[in-house]
Amino acid sequence: MTPAGSVRWSARDWVPGERLVGREAETDLPADAPVVGVLALQGDVLEHLRALRRCGARAVRVRSLADLDGLDGLVLPGGESTTIGKLLVLAGLLDPLRARIADGLPTFGTCAGMILLSRELDQETPQPVLGVLGVRTRRNAFGRQVDSFDTALAIAGVEGGPMDVSFIRAPWVEDVLDDDVEVLADVDGRPVVVRQGNVLATAFHPEVTGDDRLHQAFVDSLR
Ligand code: GLN
Repeated sequence: MTPAGSVRWSARDWVPGERLVGREAETDLPADAPVVGVLALQGDVLEHLRALRRCGARAVRVRSLADLDGLDGLVLPGGESTTIGKLLVLAGLLDPLRARIADGLPTFGTCAGMILLSRELDQETPQPVLGVLGVRTRRNAFGRQVDSFDTALAIAGVEGGPMDVSFIRAPWVEDVLDDDVEVLADVDGRPVVVRQGNVLATAFHPEVTGDDRLHQAFVDSLR
């Protein structure tokens, strides 16, 4: 039973809690707001939904093939890339997502999202990836969970000074595999923000710090 006036999870663009801070999921965005899907199988989905809404996007969850309809952009959240990869296979989403991104769907992956986008991983054990970004990525490159850190990072194209970001058992790019991959930021020479065409990836989480400049640039690029 759902009490009157409630919003249920079945509302695809409900961002939990937004109504409690006075924002109506359906009504306070312009009709032409870009629709951005957040892959919602595992990971920090809510943080991305909120960041995207703060930036003026209609943020919706993507959990099945039908959810891919009508998207202007896609976000792959952080979390556990092995788990998300397995769930992508189970949901029948791995190949369709790969095709949509290869076809030009603007896509932004953070941390585990960057790992999933990578063409190659610097490890022996195979795991399902989308493979649409021409880099070889090393998982857990900065160390274990206890080695996670927050920092301020200068990113090419992001104005207004270094960005507040959080590296949580984060990867880095070990090797760039294609000539058209742009490295927009690095830590001690290790690429941590890369872009190739319609695909943007960060090794860190910009969605947990409240510094929305990368999300804002992504949303603005969809208008
Ligand atoms: N270490 C995780 C992985 O390999 C990624 C961590 C994260 O997304 N914060 O999938």
